[in-house]
Formats: sequence, C-alpha cells, structure tokens
Amino acid sequence: MRPVSQFTVQPRLPGPLEPLQELAENLRWTWHRPARDLFRRLVDEGGEVHRNGGAGLVGADGAVNPLLALARAGRERLDALAADPGYVAQVAAQAEALDAYQQQRLWFQTDGPPGLGTVAYFSPEFGISEAIPQYSGGLGVLAGDHLKAASDLGVPLVGVGLLYAEGYFRQELDESGWQRERYVALDPELLGLRPVAGLEVQVELAGRPLAAQAWRASIGRVRLYLLDTDVPANPPDLRRLTDRLYGGDMEHRLCQEILRGVGGIRALRGAGEAPTVFHTNEGHAGFLGLERIQELVVGSGLSFDEAVEAVRSATVFTTHTPVPAGIDRFPVELMRRYFAPLAEACGIPFARLMAIGHHPDEPEEAPFNMAVMGLRLAGHANAVSRLHQAVSRTLFGGLWPEVPAAEVPIGGITNGVHPRSWVAEDVDRLLTQHLGPDWDQATAERWAGLAAVPDQALWSLRESGRGRLVAAVRARLRASQLAVPSGGGDLAWWDEVLDPSVCTIGFARRVAEYKRATLLLSDPGRLTRLLTDPTRPVQLVFAGKAHPADEVGKRMIQELVRFAADPAERHRIVFLEDYGIDLARALYQGADVWLNTPRRQQEACGTSGEKAALGGGLNCSIRDGWWDEGFDGENGWAIPSADPALDPAERDRREAAELFSVLEDRVVPLFYARDGGGVPAGWVARVRHALMVLGPFVNAARMVREYVEASYAPAERRGARLAADGFAVARDLAAWKANVRACWPQLRIEGVRGPEAPPALGARAEVEARVALAGLRPSELQVELVHGAITDGGEIDNPGRAPMALVDPEISGDGARYRGRFVCDRAGPYGFTVRATPVHPELASPLETGCIAWALPEER
Ligand SMILES: *Cc1c(COP(=O)(O)O)cnc(C)c1O
Repeated sequence: MRPVSQFTVQPRLPGPLEPLQELAENLRWTWHRPARDLFRRLVDEGGEVHRNGGAGLVGADGAVNPLLALARAGRERLDALAADPGYVAQVAAQAEALDAYQQQRLWFQTDGPPGLGTVAYFSPEFGISEAIPQYSGGLGVLAGDHLKAASDLGVPLVGVGLLYAEGYFRQELDESGWQRERYVALDPELLGLRPVAGLEVQVELAGRPLAAQAWRASIGRVRLYLLDTDVPANPPDLRRLTDRLYGGDMEHRLCQEILRGVGGIRALRGAGEAPTVFHTNEGHAGFLGLERIQELVVGSGLSFDEAVEAVRSATVFTTHTPVPAGIDRFPVELMRRYFAPLAEACGIPFARLMAIGHHPDEPEEAPFNMAVMGLRLAGHANAVSRLHQAVSRTLFGGLWPEVPAAEVPIGGITNGVHPRSWVAEDVDRLLTQHLGPDWDQATAERWAGLAAVPDQALWSLRESGRGRLVAAVRARLRASQLAVPSGGGDLAWWDEVLDPSVCTIGFARRVAEYKRATLLLSDPGRLTRLLTDPTRPVQLVFAGKAHPADEVGKRMIQELVRFAADPAERHRIVFLEDYGIDLARALYQGADVWLNTPRRQQEACGTSGEKAALGGGLNCSIRDGWWDEGFDGENGWAIPSADPALDPAERDRREAAELFSVLEDRVVPLFYARDGGGVPAGWVARVRHALMVLGPFVNAARMVREYVEASYAPAERRGARLAADGFAVARDLAAWKANVRACWPQLRIEGVRGPEAPPALGARAEVEARVALAGLRPSELQVELVHGAITDGGEIDNPGRAPMALVDPEISGDGARYRGRFVCDRAGPYGFTVRATPVHPELASPLETGCIAWALPEER
C-alpha cells in the first residue's frame, strides 16, 4: 500500500552514540575508512536494502552507506551498541579524529601561498559518493574529488551547485538491451544535507520571482551549498526547476544555469561566505560573472567595462570538453527574455551583453556560447590536460585572432583523482606500509619506495582486486533483469560468469559515439578468439550510461549487450547496468587492464584510467587526454592512432586492428608469462613502475596545488589590487584597454632592417624597426623580435623571442625606432619578424587584449 504521507524519522541516538550523527553527516567518511567501518556495525546481517535513489544501504562494492545505516538503525541494535564499551570507545575516538582533522594545520597552512581567502567552486554536479547521487559522470566526480583534495590540503574552498530532486537517471536495460531511464525521488536529509536556516535565495526569471532553499553539506573541511527550488513559495513549474541533472529543454537548462550562477552568488552572500576567488567548473555556472558585474555596477557605481575587469581578475574558468555538443549555447531571443533587465541595470545595450558569449568566427546572431563567456570573464582559464590545452587553444583561438596558438591564454592543469576515495583497503594498507600513513600526499621520491615491495605482494593485490570484481559482477548479474531473457534452460549461468584467474579488461565510461565502446566488436571473430582462447583468454567488463537523448549511444549499449548474451562467450564478457561510483570503484580496483578508445583529441582528460592506475591496473589507451602525457612506454600501452584526416570509418577500422594487435601481442603474453610461483614477473614490473610514476602525478592533491599556485593565489592578489581604492585599478585598466583598442588599428611596424648578409650559425644578428605608435606611449608597448628556422610551409617554427629596445627616446613624427638582436641557433632556412603588443602591469596574461601588430613585409 502507498502511504498518504511520508517523512523521515530522525533517530534519537543513545547518549554514547550521539557522535555518530556528526560522523555520518560530515561526508569525510566517504574517504575515511575507520569512520565508515563504525556504521557497518549498525547494519543487521542481511539487512534490508533500503535505497535512497542512487544508493542502497550497501553499494555494488560492499561499501556501507552511513547515512542510511543510521537512519534505518533499529532501536535494539543501537541500545546494544551503546552498551558495548569497545564500540563506544571507537565512536569517541573517531569523533575526536574528525575534530582534529578539522583543526589540523595542513599543506595550505604551512606551505600554501599566504593570504588566500575563500575560493568558491561552482559546478553543475558533484560526485562525492554513490550515497549522494548528484552526479552524472566524469565532470561531477572530478568536482567531488576537487573538494575532497582541497579539504585534505586545508585549502579554504566552498562548493556551490544545485540540489536535484531526482539526481541523474538510473539505468536499466530492457530485454532487447535498450537503455531505459528511471528517476527516483531523493530525500535530501538522507544525502547528508541540512537546510541553511534563515536563508532563502531570490532570483528573477524573466520577471517571475524564484525562491530557492539552500542546503549545506560538509565534505571534511569544505562546505558545499546546493540550491533547491522545491519550496512552497514557488509555482509548480518553478518547483520543478531543480528536478533533474541535465534534464528538460533548453529554457529549463538556461533557468537552472541562472539559478546556479546568480542564485549561487546570492546564496554565498546570504550564508555569510566571503569568497575572493570564483572558479567555474565548465560553463554551466558562467552567469555568476554577470551577477557579480551587476553587483559592481549597481552597488559600486562602476561602468560595465570596469566591472568586467574587476570580475575577470578574480575568476577562474576551466574548460572540460573539445566536443561542441558538450558546450551550452542559448539562442539570442531566449537570452533576451532573461537578460534584457540585467543589460538595462548595467547601462549597456543588450547587444553588448551578447557579445560576451559570441565567438568571432560565427555569425552575429549565433547562440550565446557559455564557454566563450567563461573565457571572456575569467582572467585565468585552463584546459584539463596538456593535449586538451593545445586543442582548446585552437578551438577558442578565434577569440584572440592574431595571437599564435602557443600563446593563446588558456593554461593546462591536468585533472587528478582523490586517491583515498578510489583505492581498495589492501592497496591502502600496502601504501601505508611502504610510503607512510600520509601516502596520499607522498612525493615521487617516496613512491619510489615501492621498489622494496616483493613481486608476490603486488601480485596478490591484483589477484584479490580481480576476485572481488568477479564476485561483485556475479552478484549484480544475479540481481539484474539482464539475466532473465537468456535464463531459461541454463539457470544460474551468471554464478559462473567470468573467471577470477583470467586477464580482465575493464571499459566503463559515458557511452558516447566518440568514445567508441564498440570498437572491439568491429571484428567479432577476432574478439571471440581473444575471449575464448583455451589457455590464455581475456574477459571484458563493460558499463556506462548513454545520455537519455543519445540514440547512437543507446544503440552501442544494445550492441554490447547482444554480443555479451551469446552463450558461446557470455561467461567472458558482460555489460553491467547503472554505472555509478560504487560500481566504478569495483571496476577500477579489479581490472588488470583499463581500456580507453576515444577518437584522439576528443577526450579532454579522462580520469577513470587515473583511478585504475592507483590500484595497479595498467592502462591500454589511445594517446588522448591525460594518457598522452602520462604514458612513458613502460607504464601501460598506447594504442597507435590513425591519421585523423582519414574517413572516420576507416580510422576506426585501423585503430581497432591496432588495438587487437596490442592485446594479442603485448598484453596477453605478458599476463600469462608466469614464473615458478605463478607470478607474471614482467607484468608485475609494469604495475610497480606504473604506480611509482603515476601515483604522484594522478593525485588530485597535485591538481589542487596547481590550481592554488597558478590560478587561485594570483587571481586573489590581482582581484584585491583591482578592487583597492574604490576599484581604481579596475577603472584604469578598463580605460587603458578602451584606448589601446581604439588606437591599435593605426599602429604600424615598418622599415624593418635586418643584417646585410646572412649571419652564420651562432652569430648575432641585429635588427631595427620603426613603429608608428598611433598615439600610444612607448611604455605601453612591448616590441619583440620573433625568429627561428623556417618550415616547409614557410612559417617560423617554434619561434624564439627577443626584446627590442627604444633606440632614441625622442620620438619623431614617423614613429619610434627600436633595435634588438637575436642569435641564429639553427642552420638552414631562417627568418625573423617583428611584433608589438600592448603592455600593462595589471594584465592577467600578456596577450589577453588580443592586440598584436606584426611587421609589414620588408621594404627592400
Ligand atoms: C571517474 C569516473 C568517471 C570519468 O571517467 P572517464 O575516464 O572520464 O570516462 C565517470 N563516472 C564515474 C562514476 C567515475 O568514477
């Protein structure tokens, strides 16, 4: 029967167990095993599996959900534990440990840049735990890992996002293998969230008032604020605004983004947070910039352009995708409906506002591009791997049309993962033993300590991880409808699916076309031979959700499921439903080989391989995202990429063949080359090496430190300088840029005179040029020589730059003379040119104005 009314009964904990409340509510348990273990005792043997949407009481990998365990604990069990002195002592000890963790002086307090205030980190999703299903995939899990790593480093950071009443969908497969989406209402109290008392956020949506409740979660030392519109003050349609992650039509998305950006800022202010740096994780929170601009125009009397400078200075933007479909874009008419009032309040024409999200390579009326706005309103922008940095510089280079790709102001900070959230208990123990209890903060030198671990010890970790994965897969298949259609005569085949001694390949990620989950299926005969080899077989475990609107992705899933249903090989290949954090952990910890097959340059980073590497899994991947820089020849395998100019089908065919060769010739033989003790020494050597070189690199602590040092701290300092004395510097900078932009078209570099005769290798060459300053002062300009070897295409390759100095402070009517020298450091065709750029001490990056003047062709 259905209840007429539903509520959550708050447990009244017996006195000695009261600290459990705080220990469950502070989500540090998601990466602090001793705290989590306390809650295991609350779960009755074979306890009921109550689910709160995404997560059961016990996850796919056996992890207990403390929030549910506490909410569901029976009176008798609690009384029994309260009478157990040993248990009570453990509870008290963990409560003390949490307290100490909150007070401790950590990296930021001892070695961090002094004076950094609070950083506000905005993200559309946060993947903190399967118990809090507010994520869809990589972007959210990265955000969760960012918060946890910031907490462990003591970085003062708060998260901001939305609370989705139904989270993301749960994936079920029907009998034909077609993905069905199921949405489940979540109970926020069971997600570790508490309402922020007395704070109701107000936002205007095209003239309609929207109210939102702010909830707060504690992620160790980090506070996370989530906004929820399901409050009585809102009409029904607006109550549903925060219903689902990535749900609804374009207007729904736009309204969610307004709430996230604009409402997010207001929530922070209302909650008494005083962030000085604002970081937006992809463009979905980009409207926070417009809200802050409006605050400054209305509240501090700045002009729009001055406010842009002030806001930019303290904003960090991270771009996460080179795939255009991953970038939010909103048609101009829709934008007008929601943003005309803001333009008016800021005293600018609406078109000026639209220009912020306009890519210069596109027609005027093209939709507003959130990534473009992100880049324009952030003084610090970065991509998420080195390769993705290069790709992004090309993709967004049009925003700085004259600027060489290598100097486009987009940095690169390679994503990392939060180690303690992902490694198995036995790996944690081994690392503790050899690197120390703070192994998750260890430098490369300490990781080198793994050299002392016996082969047998490393190998047995791999064996136990694989064994747990196989058990988890069987349990999941048993519980899953997937088993039903082919059940029939051969009952319980899933109890024997997979083999704990067989080389196990994992592939789990969002099923999107470019990730090519079905690449191996392109040659079914060769795949079958690989799976069913009588002595050296491999087995494959797949998982992944397709976006609900992605028919191509759903067909790929169906293809995989159908292939895996064939009785001839179904014991060696499975597709698991409902990929989420708990299943992910089991996969990363158990797979011997982590496979990744994106079309090169489309994967921005890809963090699952980093998590697999931390557990001793070996990556076998196209050199894309992080693996392009992570692969060193010995720590896994690279699948060679075909010429990107080829037709995609041909490219896929060739890369599939390469993948098969790597598996057949390299992976399988190494896995099965056993010594007398049954240990594959060559394999273990690779695992050891991979852990030593990748362990320190894939760590989110490394990533967060880079953000602090390269982005947050400089942004904070610049933000403070620009804001001082009533925003004097912001005003000056805005005026300076306006003047430079007005003058720039008249600036000329002429009369370039180089050496009379070609200089010898290693010789110095002197160059003079005349610059028509177009009304700018020499101090506002940097004039440089750009020189280097000439490529076949007639371009200067990998150029060097040398400054040119003003020859004569007296400036004549036809311009100023500059002189400089360079050294020809390569034989063969060589060339140089001269360029001028505007300089101002408060620019966040030298070429942010996009103004560059190049010398006109030589007169001679
Ligand atoms: C790490 C992770 C991802 C992202 O992995 P990719 O390599 O980017 O595909 C997605 N989903 C979950 C649950 C994860 O833990």
